[in-house]
Amino acid sequence: MAPRVGVLDLQGDVSEHVEALQRAGAEAVRIKRVEQLADLDGLVIPGGESTAIGKLMTHYGFMEAIPRQAARGMGVYGTCAGLILVATEVEGSDQPRLGLMDMVAKRNAFGRQVDSFEADLDIPELGPEPMPAVFIRAPYVGSVGKGVKVLAKVGEKIVMAASGKHLVTAFHPELTEDARVHRYFVERLRKS
Ligand code: GLN
Repeated sequence: MAPRVGVLDLQGDVSEHVEALQRAGAEAVRIKRVEQLADLDGLVIPGGESTAIGKLMTHYGFMEAIPRQAARGMGVYGTCAGLILVATEVEGSDQPRLGLMDMVAKRNAFGRQVDSFEADLDIPELGPEPMPAVFIRAPYVGSVGKGVKVLAKVGEKIVMAASGKHLVTAFHPELTEDARVHRYFVERLRKS
């Protein structure tokens, strides 16, 4: 059976993730209320503005409900702002976060000069073909704790990592045709 994967629909590029998940073989659903989390195998937290999404998540009860479902086996994939929300620590900020992946997220960390850029990433886990990656006021991961696997870097900056069923990318694979990152997430949800 296709894994059932939600896309947190509070802010950000939700429909692009829904389409990418469908291309990756998942059943995709938009999630607006915590009750909808109950029967999900996975959840995507899209890009947007992490402080705004964090406030809405707190308001609607997702800050407690998502870690509870994750403890029952739901995998969480955070892109960009979603990466920040999944982290245990956000450098220089006490903004709300889920603390699902042991790492330090750095916001807007590529600097003002390079607000947005594209790069072809070498991601061995996804095969030999380079992965086209779009970065938009992107964060990166400064350091990771035990059990977190680094999957891609730009220079020394970590831009993709996984831990158990959880995944983060600093870039936006939903904005390209290449569904390998979403497929990677979905395939790992099949393995219980
Ligand atoms: N800069 C945003 C933040 O810190 C993230 C940008 C994005 O998700 N494209 O929340």
